[in-house]
Amino acid sequence: MKFLTILLTMLACNNAQIPVSVENTAGKPATSPSSTTAMAGKTDSIVPPQYISGKLVKVEKNEDAWKRELNDLEFRVLRKEGTERAFTGDLWDNHEKGIFVCAGCGLPLFASETKFDSGTGWPSFYKPISEDCIADITDSSHGMDRTEVECARCGGHQGHVFPDGPPPTGLRYCINSVSLDFVKQ
Ligand SMILES: [Zn+2]
Repeated sequence: MKFLTILLTMLACNNAQIPVSVENTAGKPATSPSSTTAMAGKTDSIVPPQYISGKLVKVEKNEDAWKRELNDLEFRVLRKEGTERAFTGDLWDNHEKGIFVCAGCGLPLFASETKFDSGTGWPSFYKPISEDCIADITDSSHGMDRTEVECARCGGHQGHVFPDGPPPTGLRYCINSVSLDFVKQ
């Protein structure tokens, strides 16, 4: 009887491992793109990127869906390329260790190790977590040639990047607090 119990336990363990091994293959080409439903809704936690055939799986929603999920300021900044007032956000003076994720979709965008005090009143970083999580777009509005920074997964507006940052990159990613959520580590 004891042997049978052990055998059943082993079988149960084996069964329990099946979902884990499936999860480990997430992001491989065989994974269905429908798994993007896991990213639905606003999140303040990390939602790792998924890749299909080497391409980042995007999050696409219409304007009404974003309006339902975001508050007014988030919608204005993330979806309408607005800018929060300097020194009003909750993250410009954050010095904790952690990951800054897109407030629209949870994609990890910046790490606390690359954050620096720019004196601008906006969270500032000298580089993103990875180049493929950020989309750079030339922005000629307001009579300036600036480079807009977007989340590469949901297209949410983050801020702008300027060539006056500290070493090692010399770049200053000037990001709206409201476009980011902070995940403490
Ligand atoms: Zn996003």
